[in-house]
Amino acid sequence: MSFQVSPVGIVRSCFKEKFAIPRQPQLAPAARGVLELLPPFDQGDAVQGLEQISHVWLLFVFHQALEQTPRLKVRPPRLGGNQSMGVFATRATHRPNGIGQSVVRLDKVEPGRLWLSGIDLLDGTPVLDIKPYVPYADSICEAHNGMASAAPALIPVLWQDDALQQAHGHAQRLAEPLVELIEQCLAQDPKPAYQTPSPERRYGAQFWDLDVRWHYPQAGVIRVLEVVLSA
Ligand code: SAM
Repeated sequence: MSFQVSPVGIVRSCFKEKFAIPRQPQLAPAARGVLELLPPFDQGDAVQGLEQISHVWLLFVFHQALEQTPRLKVRPPRLGGNQSMGVFATRATHRPNGIGQSVVRLDKVEPGRLWLSGIDLLDGTPVLDIKPYVPYADSICEAHNGMASAAPALIPVLWQDDALQQAHGHAQRLAEPLVELIEQCLAQDPKPAYQTPSPERRYGAQFWDLDVRWHYPQAGVIRVLEVVLSA
């Protein structure tokens, strides 16, 4: 049996590359984007009623992680990247049919456009469906997950003075909460858990149209070094 699906819209996201995107939604409330709906869903009728809803489920395609051969076991970053686990016990991007799901905040609704925050989606992600979050059914108080019982621990994010000034300047230009976005994403410690970087080693990721560079002056601490326009 096979099915054909096609996107109802494409996400325009603050995240231009996979590295440093939080591993789940809601971990970076300052992560914003716009879901641009495709015809025929770009008409007002398709989004009527959504203004009464604070959060939506997005079902989407991990379009930059699609593979021909399905994996039965994966190595989730949550387990340090060196322990394998059955694919259905994880939220790994490499999975059958490449389908992801995220609950995101719905900030504004316009015909053809949904303004989102708390996203964990790459720019250009194709969205297959949108469903309202239904608190009484979707929030399960007694639920437990032995592998991921709580949000990952956060690490401190420090700023070099000129980097913070650069970030404030670009935040104004973009009219986006850029300092918060960088702090919320880097506090998740994006580097693979098995790496112990020297202070000389530089890391970088693109947020909006900016290259953000940082290092680890000591284990478990990030310092942002530079926030500059991408080349
Ligand atoms: N919340 C979703 C879920 O549970 O299905 C996604 C979880 S997945 C672990 C989150 C990671 O997916 C992000 O950190 C990012 O690196 C990656 N990602 C996001 N959008 C993607 C895309 N369109 N293609 C490939 N990888 C993507």
